[in-house]
Parts: sequence; structure tokens; C-alpha cells
Amino acid sequence: MEVTGLLQASFCSPVVGRLVPYVPGEQPKIDKLVKLNANENPYPPSPRVIAAIQMAAQQGLQLYPDPESTALRHAIAAHHGLAAPHVFLGNGSDEVLAHAFFAFFQHGCPLLMPDISYSFYKVYCGLYDIPVEQVPLTLDMRLDVSAYARGEGASVAGVVIANPNAPTGVGLPLQQVEQLLKLHPKRVVLVDEAYVDFGGDSAMPLIAQYPNLLVVHTLSKSRSLAGLRVGFACGQAHLIEALERVKNSFNSYPLDRLAIAGGVAAFEDQAYFEQTRRAVMSSREGLILALEDLGFKVLPSQANFVFARHPQQDAAAIAADLRTRGVLVRHFKQPRIEQYLRISIGTPAQCDELLHALGSVLSGLA
Ligand SMILES: *Cc1c(COP(=O)(O)O)cnc(C)c1O
Repeated sequence: MEVTGLLQASFCSPVVGRLVPYVPGEQPKIDKLVKLNANENPYPPSPRVIAAIQMAAQQGLQLYPDPESTALRHAIAAHHGLAAPHVFLGNGSDEVLAHAFFAFFQHGCPLLMPDISYSFYKVYCGLYDIPVEQVPLTLDMRLDVSAYARGEGASVAGVVIANPNAPTGVGLPLQQVEQLLKLHPKRVVLVDEAYVDFGGDSAMPLIAQYPNLLVVHTLSKSRSLAGLRVGFACGQAHLIEALERVKNSFNSYPLDRLAIAGGVAAFEDQAYFEQTRRAVMSSREGLILALEDLGFKVLPSQANFVFARHPQQDAAAIAADLRTRGVLVRHFKQPRIEQYLRISIGTPAQCDELLHALGSVLSGLA
């Protein structure tokens, strides 16, 4: 909904008119769509998650949830070989990111981030008035760590990256993440690992060694729980304490009872997690080959999506045509990437439908 025209200057805080909100992938209410535009998992959550949520719904909803989400913190800490004071939970990782930007990046100097990355980062900077310094990815869409070095006198507020990056899917080796941490030892380096379970290198093992590392994860992608809204950050206890102060100045209960119960069950069903993430990764490899057969150039992906362009056909035209055929993919009207399509990995049947539709689109445009 376009609200700008309705803003009443006398009612709104002036900053509201200056905000540039994030625009999520559309969630149309049309049946039978092949929905490959929001990087959701094509598989439902583990049956154990559903059972745990049903159970939680039957007992205690009249009571507030545990403000510390203790059970889920312990489950996550155990999964990652950390202690509970190293885990911070939020209502989706977007909320965790919002609190982290508030807690760590308001120093009055620029926050470094790639020019092509998760577009919500810039939105938070607008919300909190954090200056942004965009560091260009290389021509082949890789992150060049040396471009994040700054001279003695230069102040930066910190660094934020997504690894694997969004919307490219390209991963950064752990050694290079470590170089970033060493370049800015006095500032937080936030590594958003929303897609890491699909083949990336996680920085979790570096937490003990680096007091400036914050790693952010979500249950929305690899745990099939985008609808439940659970995200978390891991880091040394002093960073987690700062996040707790912000959270407890905002909302004591970001996770409800159903989310806590479902989240714990998700970490208990390791077998299901392995099975579904492997299915997605294997579909990805098949999809990349099939897209290349159709003439697409596809970036190497360690995520549950691919980023592809067709050297002859316009990406916006392909996306629009696919939509009329009931297939949704994501197109960003943004410099450097406007000729790319971001395509989430579906089930094998959805991948087939996409390829079939793409075949028709391309022969129509040719
Ligand atoms: C999907 C995504 C998120 C948001 O995840 P939620 O937990 O659903 O809020 C954060 N960062 C990146 C890079 C993402 O792609």
C-alpha cells in the first residue's frame, strides 16, 4: 500500500516521512502459484515442530511466555557448541538485525557493507540515521576483503555482510571472514548467515576468539519456519548483553509460546533438517545445469536460491512473463543487478514447472 500521500505532517514524527521501508517479496493470495520469490523453504517444517506447537497451544496461552526463551536458547547453544549466554533470540532475524544495528552501529561514522547485499541493512541505517559506506563487490560479484581496510585516522561504525551473500548466493571463505574481523578489531563485524546451512562456511567457530564477531541466523530458511518468526544472534556474552538491553527496552516477549516450542522441536529433529537441506542443495545443482542449458549465466550458489541472468533477454521481461504463467521469481530494479533474476530452489516438481515455463518464455521472446 502506498501511504506517502496520506502522511499528515502534524501527526507524524518528521522522521517517518524520511523512512525508506523494506519491500518483501510479494505474498499473493493466488492458488497454485509456483512461488520462488522469497527464498522460503519448499518443504514444510518437521512434523515434530507441528506436534510441539499443537501441544503448546493447548497449555498456558493465557500466560506470558518466558521472556528469556530459555529452552530455545539452550537448544541453539547446544547445536552450535556454545553456552546459553552466547545466544540472543528475536522475532525473526530481521528483528535481531534491527536491535544489533541499534546496539552496535550508532557511532556517527559510516557502517561498511557491500553495494549488493540484503537491502534491509540500508533500511535500518535510515531508521537509526547511521551513515552507510557501500563497498563494491568485484565484477564477478565476489566480496573483496581488502576493500574493507581503512587508514589509521578513518572511523567506521562496523561492518555488516551476509554470508552467503544475498541476493547473489556467493559465499565468502571463513579465512576471509577472519581477515575482516582483524581489520576492525574495535568494531562489531556482523555476519548474517541466513543461508549458511545450504553449503556456506559458518563463522560460529570463530566466536570464542573474536570479541567483535556477531553471527546472525534464522529459522525461516533452512528450518522451514518463515511463518513462525524466529531468528537469533550468537557472540561473546558482552555483545549478547548489549542486545538484551536493547530488546528489554523495546519488547520483553518477542517470542511467543508457540514459537519457543516449535523452535526447540526444530533443533530436536536433526534428521529432518539434514534431509530437507540436502534435498534443496541437490535440486539446486540440477537447476543450475538446466538454467545453463537454457542459456543463463548462473552465479555459484551456496544458498537456497540462484542468481542468474540471460545474456540476450531482459530480466524484468522474463520475470513479468513468468508471472503470467503462475511462476514467481524475484527481480531487483537496482544498478548492477537489474539483469539478474533471483530464483528460490523449489521442490523437484516446482523446479520442473519453472523450467518448463522458462522454456516457453524464452521461445516467445526469441
Ligand atoms: C531471509 C533473510 C533474513 C530474514 O530472516 P527472518 O528471520 O525471516 O526475519 C535476514 N537476512 C537475510 C540475508 C535473509 O535473506
